[in-house]
Amino acid sequence: MKKIHNFSAGPAMLPKEVLMEAKNNFCNWEKNGFSIMEISHRSHFFLKVVEEIEINIRELLNIPNNYQVLFCPGGARGQFSAIPMNLLNKNDKADYIDSGYWSHLAAIESSKYCYSNIIDVKKKEEKRSILSMKNWGISDNSVYIHYCPNETISGIAIYEQPNFYGKTIICDFSSFIFSKVIDIKKYSLIYASSQKNIGPAGMTIVIIIDDLIKKAQKITPSILNYKILLKNRSMFNTPVTFSWYLSGLVFKWIKKRGGVKNIELLNQKKAKYLYSVIDSSNIYINDIHPKNRSITNVVFKLQGINLEKKFLIESEKEGFLFLKNHYIEGGIRASIYNSMSVKSVKSLAEFMVFFEKRYG
Ligand SMILES: *Cc1c(COP(=O)(O)O)cnc(C)c1O
Repeated sequence: MKKIHNFSAGPAMLPKEVLMEAKNNFCNWEKNGFSIMEISHRSHFFLKVVEEIEINIRELLNIPNNYQVLFCPGGARGQFSAIPMNLLNKNDKADYIDSGYWSHLAAIESSKYCYSNIIDVKKKEEKRSILSMKNWGISDNSVYIHYCPNETISGIAIYEQPNFYGKTIICDFSSFIFSKVIDIKKYSLIYASSQKNIGPAGMTIVIIIDDLIKKAQKITPSILNYKILLKNRSMFNTPVTFSWYLSGLVFKWIKKRGGVKNIELLNQKKAKYLYSVIDSSNIYINDIHPKNRSITNVVFKLQGINLEKKFLIESEKEGFLFLKNHYIEGGIRASIYNSMSVKSVKSLAEFMVFFEKRYG
């Protein structure tokens, strides 16, 4: 069988070692005579798995003790609603930074539950970029600032560190979490769904500072209420146990690879391969300013729609799969999260050079 390189944006590829370990334990988990999916989430077997997951997340992200780690149902989009419902009253104001598709949707959803002040920070010059934070025009009376450090579809990232004089910062880290070192103390709440850079879909991580777990709006569904989730160890309803288990294997895998710091170096190396091919080419175009280029989602277009079609056909023949970007953005997107090897990215870079020579 020919080698497959899976560039899916999410659900995304998982480390082969993790899949093999899950496979070997699928029917008979750790020789206990049952599958991990066949036991109660309240059994001591599963509670041990959960405990280990939390310890590993805390260690990998260096989470201070005054932060809680919650696992929520409903994906990142569930948090688009949960955050304003848990933190605000209907008339409270929040600043929602619009840097692309996901942060825009978060803003729209929040406006059902609060006064959402949407701030467009997209700079549309010859190169697309994001306004620097000092020019965001944050309101004096907003309760928090919400933004998305990596817009997964447009491949636009914000690397600037938040510094808003004590303002509460909330971030959607869905496609960035565990891909680079972050200083948790700079944020009051960060959240991420699992299917990009963690494990299979289903587990949503919320890392929240204690002070923010207060009184949710009355209408807040109990399964999205942080206080109730905390009281119930994130098991108010039956959690997606298999997703938690598999994500747990991924956390161990990251640890084995030297933690997030080491992973970040590999991710930068991978991104560099692709951006340097793009920048020295006559057919591949990435119109994002280098300071805002994503290290996990590399997007580009080709001169002419026919050449783009040809690229997708020829790359697929060579085993480079799922490179077509979301229809709202068009073009090509190589999602190169943690599980994607440097070798696979190098192969894609080489293919791109070859393709340009042949068809460019
Ligand atoms: C994928 C993604 C989402 C949506 O995640 P769901 O789990 O489908 O709700 C939200 N924000 C970002 C940045 C994403 O990449």
